[in-house]
Amino acid sequence: MQSGTTRIQKYIGDPVSEAPIMNRNDLEEVFVDIQKDIRFDHELNGCLNCGICTATCPAAHYYDFSPREIVQLLWTENLEGIYDAMQEKIWSCAQCYTCAARCPFGNSPGGLVMIMREVAIKHGMQSAKDVLRPFSRVMLKLISTGNQLAPDMINPEHFADWGPNIAKIDAPLKLLRQAIPMPTLNTTETAWEVNLKTSVELYTIWEMTGVLEQLETIDENLFDVISDIMDEKREDYEDWLEDQDD
Ligand code: SF4
Ligand code: SF4
Repeated sequence: MQSGTTRIQKYIGDPVSEAPIMNRNDLEEVFVDIQKDIRFDHELNGCLNCGICTATCPAAHYYDFSPREIVQLLWTENLEGIYDAMQEKIWSCAQCYTCAARCPFGNSPGGLVMIMREVAIKHGMQSAKDVLRPFSRVMLKLISTGNQLAPDMINPEHFADWGPNIAKIDAPLKLLRQAIPMPTLNTTETAWEVNLKTSVELYTIWEMTGVLEQLETIDENLFDVISDIMDEKREDYEDWLEDQDD
């Protein structure tokens, strides 16, 4: 058992050997943000500590990660443990929800992990920045255009660095994409064309749902680039509207 002094030092940091970790108020703020999420009460109903979720979790086989541990931390309101888990462990989950299908309490450890990830982003935790950095190109395309990949793009021409194995994916997709009912997903060209009105509506959604605010917390440079693109498209849309009036 930790002595009272040691516990307090862990919150405020050792003035000589450690940088401050997080104070009690910050830890509570993180937990309150997790707990007040509308999904929280649905995803956590109690916990037997039986470990069925961990036994069926694919991520637990490969990483130092246990959904049982995550649920227990939340169920027992272990603020330090929750914060620690948010520094690395929560990013190991594959979001497959096998755990949710197996838990006798009807918990969804994967769903709880998702809430914790979103709170990590909201609080600008370094772990969130590190995990999301490699996806900045994807976020740029997704947020600024509303789409990312069209079936036509899964071919050697667009992904030369994928090597010869790309052919295995490429061949059936040429045929399979014909079955996609939405014409915009049949070709590269149309999939990348998002009309101005749709783009502007999309930007409003990103703003109103807090996506842009979260992006600014995680990657300010990317936020600036996307904001410039949005401003440009909004101006183009205004011009287009004026043209229609004339
Ligand atoms: S959703 Fe996450 S925690 Fe649940 S089984 Fe899948 S990888 Fe494991
Ligand atoms: S979350 Fe469910 S499956 Fe996992 S340890 Fe708790 S009761 Fe068992």
